[in-house]
Amino acid sequence: MDIIHLLPDSVANQIAAGEVIQRPASCLKELVENSLDAGAKRIQVIVRDAGRTLLQVIDDGMGMSEMDARLAFERHATSKIRDAQDLFSLRTMGFRGEALASICAVAQVEMTTRRAEDETGTLLEIHGSDIVRQEPCSCPVGTNIKVNNLFFNVPVRRKFLKTDQTELRNLLTEFYHIVLVYPKVSFTFVHNDEILLELPVGTEKQRIEAVFGNPKRNVYTSAFVDIHTETDLVSIHGFVVKPESATRKAEQYFFVNGRYMRHPYFLKAVQTAYSGMLVNDYQPSFFIYFDINPEAIDVNIHPTKTEIKFADEQMIFQILMASVREALGKFTLSPQIDFDTKGSIDIPLPQNQPVSRPQVTVDPTYNPFHTRGAIYPDRAPKNWESLYDGLQNERPLSGLNDGMSATLNDDLLRAEDMESCPLWQYGGKYILLPSSAGLVLINQHRAHLAVLHAQFIEQLTHTQGAKQQLLFPEILNLPQEEMVLIHDLLPDLRTIGFELDQLSPDSYSIQGIPAQLANQSALPVLQHIVRQVRERGADTQQEWREQIALSLAQSAAIPYGKTLTEAEMHDLVMRLVQLPSYRRTADGKTIVSLLTDEEITKRF
Ligand code: ADP
Ligand code: MG
Repeated sequence: MDIIHLLPDSVANQIAAGEVIQRPASCLKELVENSLDAGAKRIQVIVRDAGRTLLQVIDDGMGMSEMDARLAFERHATSKIRDAQDLFSLRTMGFRGEALASICAVAQVEMTTRRAEDETGTLLEIHGSDIVRQEPCSCPVGTNIKVNNLFFNVPVRRKFLKTDQTELRNLLTEFYHIVLVYPKVSFTFVHNDEILLELPVGTEKQRIEAVFGNPKRNVYTSAFVDIHTETDLVSIHGFVVKPESATRKAEQYFFVNGRYMRHPYFLKAVQTAYSGMLVNDYQPSFFIYFDINPEAIDVNIHPTKTEIKFADEQMIFQILMASVREALGKFTLSPQIDFDTKGSIDIPLPQNQPVSRPQVTVDPTYNPFHTRGAIYPDRAPKNWESLYDGLQNERPLSGLNDGMSATLNDDLLRAEDMESCPLWQYGGKYILLPSSAGLVLINQHRAHLAVLHAQFIEQLTHTQGAKQQLLFPEILNLPQEEMVLIHDLLPDLRTIGFELDQLSPDSYSIQGIPAQLANQSALPVLQHIVRQVRERGADTQQEWREQIALSLAQSAAIPYGKTLTEAEMHDLVMRLVQLPSYRRTADGKTIVSLLTDEEITKRF
């Protein structure tokens, strides 16, 4: 007897719905995105019981014909793409034609819709994929969709929903992601008959103020400065918080082509731009909008994922970092630096082109031996030193270097100049070398860390790492939640040279370690990796690889206090300057610092 049969549509849709519609917030996102795709200028969201009882979206968009209204709820029914080629030039929010089919599979949906050219509209009612009513109706132009009793037929899902408070927060988060990129559309959000947000048409800045601040006073957005950069590759604009207004809890938003995205790597670019400017665990708030040719990003992302792949991530990282730095440089109190807008972006120069000297305007009253408090008595709080707790190691040589590094080009140190360059070690910690712009100081531990980090990343992505067998296997015991993590990391740990065998549900024996770890005990290194991955919330392979590489590099890098021979220093510096970016470690710490000629001269 044949045993394979096709699933009825209603079942297939329910399965698909599990992916697309996980909670009320994902349903809201799909509905509002449809309204935007339909060209709506005014969108109202009405919610009851955090979406459990009702999620309603009313728009004044183009509406649907009678036929389209029916088709819209079929799976893979879409008006937005026709063939695979269209996928590469996408400018609409939706394109998979799955959302409405998924929603109507797990809820009781009622929709009225009318196009401007039609006299009557269409009313459609669908419960769990079954059409229970379809008839002409009179209604305004646009679409009005009510999603009642979400997951009424999937009790497990319904039970799985969090408290109303949490689900409402999720709804609002999703709503923010959308409204912040559509300031030219007006929105309202009503929950249990209470208007939570009323967002009139305005500029991006006014929209941000309306969401997070108070439009009458504009206090929120006055703490931000504008960023703006145009290049052939990408254009970036937006707002970044002034360092002195940063807080512990930050609003951090990236958008690309009108879509919210999470991007840990670009986040690092922004954080790097702020490094040394923020107190302890303060975080920068920002709203950064990227515009890029759709062909340069991967759009065929999972409907619920907010991560987006770019073709030129490293280049955009540099452009973004430079752009934020430039904006901050104009507004911070560090000695004023003349930025020439076009020239300040760190795009690597073509080979052989001589490196121009950084343009610096020196404040003649600046004295590197004065404390910051003395230079800016009115700006400095009394206990200003405590602001720098934990930052001692981060503090550049003097205030001047703060801004300098924006113009300290990656091409300052070039391998060919390095061949015959004399090197000294200072304090068991720094390597010193003369350069065209001044005296360069390189932190030996961080330099080695960066070199190893690049090496580990390379091994994780392209080659198998060399392994060293342990004579006496060590035993790794981990709590349950970390065991789950190790399980995910296992393939990457093996690629990089760890040999691990599971002994019991909560232990592994370690038989081999990456060769670079030569004299280290494997146990603390592995524990460090797992802890880092857990604490940093790395949950994509790219993120955890980043953490594995960083943790390993931290463990294996030469320590401070180790005396280096000239040959060792030479080897290290050569390898360092060949990295695409050698000024900072992957976690944003300064590797290379410059004591400029001007600074040296001024001391005498
Ligand atoms: P997708 O948005 O991926 O095309 P959906 O299932 O979300 O798939 O919607 C299917 C189709 O229904 C859309 O392509 C669009 O033509 C139509 N549609 C959905 N919502 C609206 C709306 N609010 N106004 C006008 N048309 C809509
Ligand atoms: Mg859609």
